[in-house]
Amino acid sequence: MGLFTRRKTVLVDSDILVVGGGMAGCGATYESRYWGRDLKIVCVEKANIERSGAVAQGLYAINCYMGMQWNENQPEDHVRYARNDLMGLVREDLGYDIARHVDSTVHKFEEWGLPIMRDPETGRYQREGKWQIMIHGESYKPIVAEAARKAATEIYNRIMVTHLLMDKTKPNRVAGAVGFNVRTGDFYVFRAKAVIVCAGGASHIFKPRAVGEGMGRTWYAPWSSASAYALPILAGATMTQMENRIVLTRFKDGYGPVGAYFLHLKTYTENAYGEEYESKWREHTKALVGDYVDRHPVPTCLRNHALLEEVKAGRGPIRMVTTKAFQDPHKETVGWENFLGMTIAQAVVWASQNIDPKYTNPELTTSEPYVMGSHATCSGAWASGPADYAPSEYQWGYNRMMTVDGLFGAGDTIGGTAHKFSSGSFTEGRIAAKAAVNYVNDMGTGQPRVSEVEYEDLKKTIFRPLERYQVGRNEIVAGTVSPSYLLPMHGLQRLEKIMDEYVGGISSHYTTNKPLLTRGLELLTMLKEDLDYLGAEDLHQLQRAWELQHRVLASEAVTHHTMFRTETRWPGYYYRADHPKLDDTHWHCFTLSRYDRHSGKWELEKAPVYHIVD
Ligand SMILES: Cc1cc2nc3c(=O)[nH]c(=O)nc-3n(C[C@H](O)[C@H](O)[C@H](O)COP(=O)(O)OP(=O)(O)OC[C@H]3O[C@@H](n4cnc5c(N)ncnc54)[C@H](O)[C@@H]3O)c2cc1C
Repeated sequence: MGLFTRRKTVLVDSDILVVGGGMAGCGATYESRYWGRDLKIVCVEKANIERSGAVAQGLYAINCYMGMQWNENQPEDHVRYARNDLMGLVREDLGYDIARHVDSTVHKFEEWGLPIMRDPETGRYQREGKWQIMIHGESYKPIVAEAARKAATEIYNRIMVTHLLMDKTKPNRVAGAVGFNVRTGDFYVFRAKAVIVCAGGASHIFKPRAVGEGMGRTWYAPWSSASAYALPILAGATMTQMENRIVLTRFKDGYGPVGAYFLHLKTYTENAYGEEYESKWREHTKALVGDYVDRHPVPTCLRNHALLEEVKAGRGPIRMVTTKAFQDPHKETVGWENFLGMTIAQAVVWASQNIDPKYTNPELTTSEPYVMGSHATCSGAWASGPADYAPSEYQWGYNRMMTVDGLFGAGDTIGGTAHKFSSGSFTEGRIAAKAAVNYVNDMGTGQPRVSEVEYEDLKKTIFRPLERYQVGRNEIVAGTVSPSYLLPMHGLQRLEKIMDEYVGGISSHYTTNKPLLTRGLELLTMLKEDLDYLGAEDLHQLQRAWELQHRVLASEAVTHHTMFRTETRWPGYYYRADHPKLDDTHWHCFTLSRYDRHSGKWELEKAPVYHIVD
């Protein structure tokens, strides 16, 4: 008898299943209850929603707040801002939809106990920048999680969802999800009428700058493992903008945030010789991207670009000039507190490297690339837009429903909508949930049915790495390399090396071309073949094994999209050396992909960008 056959199977029925209890998942769970008083709402999370997701350790600012009550900004302004930052390409219908509702989300956070700083003179929320407000956010996630806990019928913590289940009568309709408890090893089958995927972004698909014991020190959360993309991709959902990976300029080694430094403390950068360098690269950048470089604010990728070029020219490191601002005791306090609220590691790194920013200007660096849908980037699933605002081509049913019936998404999961951040992700969860409740209510008696054969087969597949390890470990007497299995860590390092060297990671200065991408895809295909031989020593490693599977599939999507878009749209995020310029004539469009899990083939196409806001 195989190991998997002895495992308990737990069946859970629900009307709405929320996968991932981070910011978007908590928003979806909360709002599902508001509109679906009598529905069974289940949220499943691989960690514990109390402190899970990218916001787990707290934040110091809410980066998306309009301030409509004080007439500070209007939703249209935010659409213009995000469009400009993403070099023209955003889903304006989805962005507008979030912007018009996000303030009410932030007001709820305050009502639930989140301390938001106030400007002592105006009494308004303290602005860090045009869109950001400052918070005492160490307990941001527990506060948000409490609202979700009270709203949910059941929360299942410590369950990693590995696959979505499809309806056995309608192939393009979702019917639930399966996964396993990372502590007990029980197998879970969640049957649901609608599923909302809110499983966060993807770190560790490109080789990180911090390796070995330090590899957990990435900018994006190391536990963000691409499930938000792999789950819909495997279910046949259309994805968009997967080439739009993000690179962050942050304080070196700790990845401490720079937003409050630039915006609130008014610090600035200089090269190794104390010179301003951004203006030097203006004409060079203009030749690549045209007038985007003259826009205000300068798009995030282009600011990276100037820094990268200056370093390549041999005038690095780039430093943040903190020594002036830190002479002001108030600013010095804010500078340190900024880390204590969300990236304590940066303060520790500075202490360990004898850097007191009052006397030494700290170095900046650019991170390895990440895949996300909620920051200054917009990778993710292609979703239907709001009925009152989306062009007809962007509407095929319910708001935030993907191209698979009954499958919704929010936060990092949904593509085309940059700059939603924590508050916008929660808001998008609310929007998706309201639509999912309507979907369930409209369903009537034709409810989805799961196939027992399908989930029993998946059970065998999911636990196979444990069995493979048990059987194969006796073939070696020492070390970790075995002829009969691949450990998740080895697979991860192989993935990161492929993505780094062929798809535009740090070691190639984010540069790639068609031959490199072609070879990268060949190597990814070989890696995928070897993933059938993953071995897991225990349940923790089994989770790592499935996280790796998800990362590899998302990486394949990134590589195909990067190959398809034959231009360099976002210099500073990545470069197609064979197509070094922005090409608005051919590429002022979205890229879409669809994966066929039976054939393993990808199909790519273009979709129009509609500019709704003038
Ligand atoms: C370093 C950093 C700094 C940031 N700073 C700010 C800031 O200052 N202000 C701001 O507003 N925003 C900030 N953000 C952005 C904000 O954190 C994200 O926009 C937001 O968390 C995205 O929400 P989400 O729900 O999509 O993902 P997350 O909040 O990451 O939630 C995803 C959830 O899914 C769970 N999950 C993943 N895979 C599975 C699976 N297979 N099965 C079950 N559960 C799963 C995860 O454990 C997690 O709980 C920052 C992010 C980072 C990383």
